[in-house]
Amino acid sequence: MIHNNKQTFTAEIKQFLSSVKEKKCCKKASDYAGTFLQEDIVLDRALFKCAECRNAFLRGVFIRCASVNAPDKSNHLEFKLPNEPDADELVVLLKECGFEAKVSKRRNTYIVYFKDGETIFQLLSVLGAQKYAFDFLNTIIEKQIRNDVNRVQNCELANMQKTASASRHVMDAIKMLEKDGELENLQEKLLYTALLRRDNPDLSLTQLAQIHEPAITKSCVNHRLEKIVKIAFGE
Ligand SMILES: [Zn+2]
Repeated sequence: MIHNNKQTFTAEIKQFLSSVKEKKCCKKASDYAGTFLQEDIVLDRALFKCAECRNAFLRGVFIRCASVNAPDKSNHLEFKLPNEPDADELVVLLKECGFEAKVSKRRNTYIVYFKDGETIFQLLSVLGAQKYAFDFLNTIIEKQIRNDVNRVQNCELANMQKTASASRHVMDAIKMLEKDGELENLQEKLLYTALLRRDNPDLSLTQLAQIHEPAITKSCVNHRLEKIVKIAFGE
């Protein structure tokens, strides 16, 4: 399922939550959310009769004043409260459920919000919107995987570029020695490796090591090439 829009995503969740069949006590708690948000009153916990009443109340609050970014956008879920006491009460209630919310003032309203993806996933679950919570979690995981893949690819690319640039440097050295007539003056082993490299520019160091007769190790090839570069460029 693709939710590319905050309004659509929020509206879908609200519609789903509105259709949840509540027990009588929970229905009362959920409806009470409307009163709570309209009037500057102290949260009446006596209305929470059963274990699910509190979540039903939160569900009611969410339906009336919350919005949540679509999962593929930046993580953000907020409740928009009309006054500070309501915001404070909601923060306390959320804390009782294990959620640490932040509060900020926006014009005349108080925003109780979350920016952490995993918390938003858990909160949507508690609200009873599991389906949307899992959509959310999936996107978080996909994003994470994409980031990891990009990081690995960037790292591999950097290594390849490093190898390519080192190998160009070696070829430049060999060509320069050849041009200056210095190649023949190289020590026999170095000359042998230099000529093999010159004639097989696309081989990896391992492959280059293998075509030596007798074959030598990769680190030995590397060592010889470094020496050639040093002789050519005095590095
Ligand atoms: Zn109940």
